[in-house]
Amino acid sequence: MSEEVLTWMSEVHDEFGEISGDEFCELWTTRTFSMARSAFEVIQKSVFDETGKRVVGEEFCYVNYFRDPEFGPVGVVRFKSAEVSTPDWVEVLGVVAEGVQEFVMDYYVTVWPACSRHSFGLHVDYFDETAVWKCNGGPEGGHVVRALDPSADRSVVRSSTIDRPPV
Ligand SMILES: [Zn+2]
Repeated sequence: MSEEVLTWMSEVHDEFGEISGDEFCELWTTRTFSMARSAFEVIQKSVFDETGKRVVGEEFCYVNYFRDPEFGPVGVVRFKSAEVSTPDWVEVLGVVAEGVQEFVMDYYVTVWPACSRHSFGLHVDYFDETAVWKCNGGPEGGHVVRALDPSADRSVVRSSTIDRPPV
């Protein structure tokens, strides 16, 4: 479990004291869902800025949120075939990006994003606790192209993941 999630769990404990498992799961799920919406805003803006295409419409239900029938109240957020149930900003951002990428491919038949140096489509990877777009091209066997979140300052991203209203 990441530092970020552990910190949040200790904040929850400080604020609410002992709470039931169900209540905790509710908070956990609400936070995951909220992060997913923020992540979607970041990624869909990136798609629009780079391709002029919008990730909207009935064809793409970007947040399909449901309660897991086996595990009870912990909700899972699905984006196409990608899903996430942990309120970890880096992981949520990565999963949302994969879902959006899949949508852009299916719906617009467009490879997004692509490396400007090679002809490859990029894929989500994780580097130095940041979700990044990576290309498999080049002599080194691949290179990181950029962070998924275009705002360079990671601390701004991290501290504004949950309360930031949609831009
Ligand atoms: Zn490349």
